[in-house]
Amino acid sequence: MKIAKVETIRPLDHPNILWILLHDDQGNVGLGETFFGQSVIEEYVHASAAPILLGLKSALPEIAHLALTPYAGFQGGGVEQRTLGGIDIGLWDLWGKRTNLPVVDLLGGGVRDDIKIYNTCAGPDYVRKTTSQHTKNWGLKGTADSSKWEDLTAFFERPAELARELLDSGIKGMKIWPFDPAAEATNGAYISQEDLSKTLKIFEKIRNEVGMEMDLMVELHGLWQRTPVEMIMHGLAEFNPYWIEDPIRPDAIDAISFLRESTGLRIATGETVVGRRGVLPLLQKNAVDILTIDTQWTGGLTEARKVATLADTYATAIAPHDCTGPVSLAACTHLVLSQNNGIIQETVRAYLNTWYSDFTTGMPPIKDGRISVTRDPGHGVLLNPELLKSDRIIRRESVA
Ligand SMILES: [Mg+2]
Repeated sequence: MKIAKVETIRPLDHPNILWILLHDDQGNVGLGETFFGQSVIEEYVHASAAPILLGLKSALPEIAHLALTPYAGFQGGGVEQRTLGGIDIGLWDLWGKRTNLPVVDLLGGGVRDDIKIYNTCAGPDYVRKTTSQHTKNWGLKGTADSSKWEDLTAFFERPAELARELLDSGIKGMKIWPFDPAAEATNGAYISQEDLSKTLKIFEKIRNEVGMEMDLMVELHGLWQRTPVEMIMHGLAEFNPYWIEDPIRPDAIDAISFLRESTGLRIATGETVVGRRGVLPLLQKNAVDILTIDTQWTGGLTEARKVATLADTYATAIAPHDCTGPVSLAACTHLVLSQNNGIIQETVRAYLNTWYSDFTTGMPPIKDGRISVTRDPGHGVLLNPELLKSDRIIRRESVA
């Protein structure tokens, strides 16, 4: 599998996503993807990664992964690892195209045909208009019109209706992050009883509407310090959340472990943790119940499947991340179907129905709240031909 051309596509209408197209010497193309740091990664692809890739006798994923791992920048969520993750997904796709097999088969085969999803209640413009990761980039429209997929506004304004709507569509899990504004106001140092009680009402309304039929995932984005988040978690306990996600940053391992122990709530973390060596201490210190692995950020499918196997030796589940692009969702779905410790897949209906389907075709099918993959070769996702014709993209290429 020799690479003849490395191409990047940077859409001007999304400031965070970058696609990487890997062309082999037989005319096949693999599609990779990365999210955040778009133009910086684009530069690194052409300046550093492409010369290595183009020089490889074989760019099969394991071989290329080793070749693209530098001695400086081999760890952490920086540009090197994020480039590697994006390229690696493209190489698995290319390998699938060459062998006419879906990625799930290349991973050893699906141990299940489909898996339950949960909906992350973002709106279409969540983290969409700028590169900011703060609430000012939530893209709120000030209307909770369900036909526009404004699920973020909806979880604040009409949480019960939103939960009912999701349940009626077959989706039995939802993730919301209503504590984030309070965290931002104090850099996570303090939450008032008033803010706490007001925010807990959202969970009460959801439970009153749908009872225990809905799994509730609470996203805290690692914004908190330990004392206020402990108050939040104790407050949430009566609503029986399925998991608490990133209560504090995942590098505060002892503190997460303490929170897990003191509150008795399940902890989900891992989407920003890079590779096996990043995940291992979380497992060793009993800090995680569910690993929310992100296939691109953790270093690609090559690394992600090893992370999944490592987690399995600790009887720890994986629940792969979405929110970082259509190709990543497809890669995560192939992964979770191939791993026995896969329990659920994150999806964002506001994205699937807007920019994911505007930019790409071949999304993993979702039916009755479950996601699967097709028998299409590779991961199945292709860039929309209209996007490739548009003048709203920056295209760069490196050739052998
Ligand atoms: Mg998360």
